[in-house]
Amino acid sequence: MSQSTSTKTNSRHDSGINKEAENDLAPSQDGHEKSPHNTNQEESLEEILLQELLQKTTELQQTKSELANNKLELGIIRHIVASQTNGIVFISVEGQILFANNVFCGMTGIDLQGLKEKSLNAFVMLPQEDQPLAAVLKKAKGQDNWHGTALLKGDNDSQLPLIMSVDFCKKDSKHDVPGGFVCQFSPTEDFAPSSSNIGSSALFSHDSLTKLPDRSSFHQHLSLCVNQARRAKSKVGLLYIDLDNFKRINRMLGPAYGDEVLCMVTLLLQQTANAEGINFIARLSGDEFAIILPPPCQQEQIETLVDRLLNNFKRPFIINSRDIFITPSIGITLYPDDGQNPPELLRNADTAMEIVKAKGGNNSCRWQSQIDAQAVENLHLENDLRMAVTNKEIYNYYQPQIDLTNGKIIGMEALARWEHPEHGFISPEVFIPLAVGAGLIDDLGLELVRQACQEGRDWMTLGFRDFTMAVNLSGRLLRRLDLFDQIIDCLDSTGFPADHLEVEFTESVLIENMDNTIDLINKCRKRSIKMAIDDFGTGYSSLSYLQRFAVDKIKIDRSFIMDVTTNAGDAAITMAIIAIAKKLNFEVLAEGVETEEQLFFLQENQCDSCQGFLFSKPISASRMKNLLMRDASVALKHRRIIDKFYSIKAGNE
Ligand code: C2E
Ligand code: MG
Ligand code: MG
Repeated sequence: MSQSTSTKTNSRHDSGINKEAENDLAPSQDGHEKSPHNTNQEESLEEILLQELLQKTTELQQTKSELANNKLELGIIRHIVASQTNGIVFISVEGQILFANNVFCGMTGIDLQGLKEKSLNAFVMLPQEDQPLAAVLKKAKGQDNWHGTALLKGDNDSQLPLIMSVDFCKKDSKHDVPGGFVCQFSPTEDFAPSSSNIGSSALFSHDSLTKLPDRSSFHQHLSLCVNQARRAKSKVGLLYIDLDNFKRINRMLGPAYGDEVLCMVTLLLQQTANAEGINFIARLSGDEFAIILPPPCQQEQIETLVDRLLNNFKRPFIINSRDIFITPSIGITLYPDDGQNPPELLRNADTAMEIVKAKGGNNSCRWQSQIDAQAVENLHLENDLRMAVTNKEIYNYYQPQIDLTNGKIIGMEALARWEHPEHGFISPEVFIPLAVGAGLIDDLGLELVRQACQEGRDWMTLGFRDFTMAVNLSGRLLRRLDLFDQIIDCLDSTGFPADHLEVEFTESVLIENMDNTIDLINKCRKRSIKMAIDDFGTGYSSLSYLQRFAVDKIKIDRSFIMDVTTNAGDAAITMAIIAIAKKLNFEVLAEGVETEEQLFFLQENQCDSCQGFLFSKPISASRMKNLLMRDASVALKHRRIIDKFYSIKAGNE
């Protein structure tokens, strides 16, 4: 009762209804006081009104609390839906999408707004053609449930195989919810859930070692992100990460240790990326990883993540109580700036990563359109060359030089060879200029001279003494002021006699380094070191220079010899070079003799010596040694070739 009184008291002040009641209790219009009878009537009216009021208030409170409950339930349901790793869609009985959770949006690359009102048919294909979606929905309606396999169409015609289950829901008139179907999409058995923390990771196939999504999952996810970004006109970031020198770790410490390293690296990548709110990390292969920064991605976000990654890699990994330092090479691309589609983005990120690698690794590089494949290849080669020079993996082959009067080997030219572990033999015409550009030619060039002297010395101790060892010197080496001292050092340290060494320069190298060369020539002359002009005829071919330089030999370039028997111009030039050389007292050697006809021509024109495939290709040091050991019989063979000319000549006369 007291409660009703208090309600009454409060009501008087609170509600409009109470105000009306107040009016009822007010003095009558004529101003007289109301009668007791009236008073009784009024009291019961007041009572009724109060009761009504009480009821309405209670109802209102109930509705309010129901609403609050519904709101709470809705919130919880939202949480539950958001926490699902399956794609969930609610479609109308006609098959139109009314709602989709984030996972489904991610799978299709379209946001909820874009999906709404679209037909599920546009995204889902059922492998059995006799079972279109409409039939499945009908079946589900009859049984209240259906499940089977389905293919979800993604970007770039990708098709994600999934288990699809369909539940029919009747119309809920009480809550004004239309009837329809709840469709759920979960991974098939082939797409076992990944344990990594990547949101919708259950949809991805994963790598068994690191449990990260694998390459195919990476492609799917990148497609989805690019799709999404295309529609939202936003960006996607891609980091392509390769570990530096991982192969070496694997080789030296064993594959089990290598696996351990990969798992530790995975953890580091996950922790660093997750701290930046990024959770898609995939292992593409061996030591290659990728991180996708989903749309909307900003350039600054990438920079921050890359900085953190490089920084975190500075700390050693501790594996089996051993500190091990691993560094990454990171290539970066941003959709749509650096690639219009996933394959292009990946290819360009890979190229950018290769650039980092070629420059020594442990860094990052954003792809730039002007980077071309050849530049990357050269950078790689340069890096490999650096290692090859340090590890002394470049060595000399030797090509014998033959006396054209008796077939004897009178010398050999040392020609550099590099057997690349992946690319096989690389021509010196490729790696010598590379070594010059990379500042490696000083070490390499001198090392090859030393090697030639050493090997020449070894052959001499076997008894073969009558030969000249020819070495090639690059223009870069000629600029070294101590070049002469270095050559002498090669001779002294190996014991090779100076008068058996011949240094070759090309004409252009001589002319471009005139002062240094004249100085070197003079010094060499004093020590009886011979000098030859290589590739004569291709450069300046200045006859006055020939006199000035006072070299010992000129080598006619192969390009003239090649067509000497078929091209009258080449024949005339060759004859002129030989004639001038004779007049100036130079020896003359023809390069690149491949046929007997070329040989006859050179003999006919009194060329002194030659080298070429007709006699021998450049061969390894040990084969050269064997050739020298068998010199008598080799000379006999050469002699036969040479004599053929004289006998033909005699026959003709
Ligand atoms: P080059 O000094 O003129 O050497 C002769 C080149 O002609 C060699 O090529 C040799 O293999 C090739 N050759 C010889 N006979 C024949 C033949 O009958 N037919 C054909 N088709 N080719 C023949 P290679 O070894 O590839 O060397 C190319 C160039 O690289 C050399 O030309 C030289 O300029 C440079 N080079 C080689 N080794 C060194 C080195 O140690 N230091 C420097 N600075 N340059 C080197
Ligand atoms: Mg040469
Ligand atoms: Mg040459």
